[in-house]
Amino acid sequence: MTDHDAVAVEDFRPTFLAKTTMAREAADAAIGATKKALVEMGRKHGRDVRLVHPARTTMDCARCGARTKHALPLSERTYTCAACGAVSPRDKNSARVMLVRAGLNPDGVEGTRPPGALPLEAA
Ligand SMILES: [Zn+2]
Repeated sequence: MTDHDAVAVEDFRPTFLAKTTMAREAADAAIGATKKALVEMGRKHGRDVRLVHPARTTMDCARCGARTKHALPLSERTYTCAACGAVSPRDKNSARVMLVRAGLNPDGVEGTRPPGALPLEAA
């Protein structure tokens, strides 16, 4: 019966799409749960956990925030900023960029806001 076949296909398709969407949502939820667990674990231990986008930390200058046009080749162990002339070991620069992005001052000076940080009232 042709009609029955057509209905079966129509029925199958949305189910399949829903399943893939659910799988995607489940994956997103799992990532979200992991982040949440990390943040909660940090809070429990009195740590201030901040999520930082890890992209291009090897391209940004930790001192002035300038971004190089090209990522450093892996063989290049030293970050040299063309904008402000800062020279630091690649890993150290990346780590500082992460701290700056998290809104922390890598130099540990208290009472200073990271550049561009909004006052709490405006956030
Ligand atoms: Zn710089």
